Amino acid sequence: MHDITFANQVLRALAAKASTLKKGEKISGVNVALSPISHVKPGTLTETYKQLAGQTEFGSVALNIRTLKIVVACTSCGVSFPIDGPVFSCIKCGGTSLDIKENNEFLVESVEIERLGDA
Ligand SMILES: [Zn+2]
Repeated sequence: MHDITFANQVLRALAAKASTLKKGEKISGVNVALSPISHVKPGTLTETYKQLAGQTEFGSVALNIRTLKIVVACTSCGVSFPIDGPVFSCIKCGGTSLDIKENNEFLVESVEIERLGDA
């Protein structure tokens, strides 16, 4: 279900941006970041986004997904390290008590604008 929430978040960001566009400008793409430990997979999000965006004026706006960098800290030995997928134990001491430092699951980072005309 989160994929729908995220896709709607993208569409809201696009709608907000669209209302600020100047004449001759068009939204060409949107950049988002997805946590590597999110339950939502990039492929799922892309499919859901395409479905929902297809029903709006943003059907042709490309969704670019990058993986969020996540840093966890071990509460036993204090070491911090970046992860790019589910990790359940400390790389240094093997402890299993890890704190996630960056806890964003999904972010709309930026909307790309294309200038049309005056060529
Ligand atoms: Zn540790």
